[in-house]
Amino acid sequence: MRQITFAPVFREWQRLARGALSSGLAPDEVVWEELHGDQPSLGMFEEAEPGIASPASAFRVPRDFVEMAQRVACHRAAERWSLLYRLLWRLTHGESHLMKIAVDPVVHALQRMDKAIRHDVHKMRAFVRFRAVAHQDQTWYVAWFEPEHHIVEFNAPFFRDRFASMHWSILTPHRCVHWDGAHLTFTVGVPKSEAPTEDAVETLWLGYYGSIFNPARVKTRAMEAEMPKRYWKNLPEAALIPSLLREAPHRVEQMIHHSQQKSAEDYSPAPVPETHSLTTLREAASICTACPLYKNATQTVFGEGPRNAEIVFVGEQPGDQEDLAGHPFIGPAGQLLNRALEEVGIDRKLAYVTNAVKHFKWEPRGKRRLHAKPNSREIIACKPWLMAELAAIHPRVLVLLGGTAAQSVLGSKVRVLRDRGQLMHSEYCQQTMVTVHPSSLLRAPDEESRQQGYADFVKDLRIAADLLSKGNPH
Ligand code: SF4
Repeated sequence: MRQITFAPVFREWQRLARGALSSGLAPDEVVWEELHGDQPSLGMFEEAEPGIASPASAFRVPRDFVEMAQRVACHRAAERWSLLYRLLWRLTHGESHLMKIAVDPVVHALQRMDKAIRHDVHKMRAFVRFRAVAHQDQTWYVAWFEPEHHIVEFNAPFFRDRFASMHWSILTPHRCVHWDGAHLTFTVGVPKSEAPTEDAVETLWLGYYGSIFNPARVKTRAMEAEMPKRYWKNLPEAALIPSLLREAPHRVEQMIHHSQQKSAEDYSPAPVPETHSLTTLREAASICTACPLYKNATQTVFGEGPRNAEIVFVGEQPGDQEDLAGHPFIGPAGQLLNRALEEVGIDRKLAYVTNAVKHFKWEPRGKRRLHAKPNSREIIACKPWLMAELAAIHPRVLVLLGGTAAQSVLGSKVRVLRDRGQLMHSEYCQQTMVTVHPSSLLRAPDEESRQQGYADFVKDLRIAADLLSKGNPH
């Protein structure tokens, strides 16, 4: 009997198994003994140990054996190594088709282990939730997961490819993996207390989850089968599930009620309270159902800024980030607007920023929500909210960003590219002007047109800034 003591690493087992095969050691003559204290892994990311030559294999084994062996090596059971060697021995000693014989006890035992690993791998991919933490002036995303088996290294390339542009760590009790944008590294396991528990990203995700939860399609059993309760403790959205399930019958009734009351072709302008209080208007708009856009959006995104703002900017509609956060112009277009405002000397904190349509209209594209343009009926339905905001603020200067805002305030005859930068009159502001929406600059086909577009945008905003500084009347 020969005892082979080895680091429980797939590559190491593979090297030693080749040696044992070459020496003619039958499975019953070998005891595979894991080195105590080593972290089981595949050795996929380790350099070959200098000075140890792996004997070139004189044996041929099916590719699916190697693939399965890599997965089974992640299993917790200590007997996996001896089972793998037993199968390897028989594959190379006259039973080359053994992998196809599922009723063979060795094949059956290994296939059960393989299935457990595949399941664990899938669950890790589905249930890892990153939380943002500040780390050396940058954002690092950290997740906690408790796998059943030693799958961290096996799964690492999946997370590296999926989250390539982020810096992240996945912490587990047995092994941790880290990605700094260039390299994967592994460290020993840590206790759960080292994982962060909450962040702003999570708040956005909870808002999003609550909004996409469809009460009419709840299948509790299927949900629990796909998302077993033991994973819930690490999922921020799991805390919402009991209350969402409790509310489901009521929300279904509401959905039926709404669909009976109103169809996409039949809806009326929003019912706006007669007030100049922006707080009251915001509260009333938060439950608006005057057009179908509220159904797929997370929340109403009302305008923001001081009631005595001298200048108001109106965009088209909230985008993906605005919908989740509930604030207008905080995404990439908002950042571009901020930059341009700063350049022309307009303090965004003193301006009121809003949209012509208050709910995010989108279409699913894979897992993403792509912006969809609101149609004329939706713009008309939402116009009373915008008019109420303008009536409350009565700005000296009104800047309409893009075609939808221009259409809502000035009607369909206005043309953004033809009329941009010119002063016009509108119902609530005698100094109204049109320019492009900053998101159009982000869509420019190349850097040159992006720069030109941005320069023209700043030029238009400078006209608005000059009007403000001249102190023209309302
Ligand atoms: S988009 Fe406007 S009109 Fe339509 S539901 Fe939302 S707030 Fe109401």
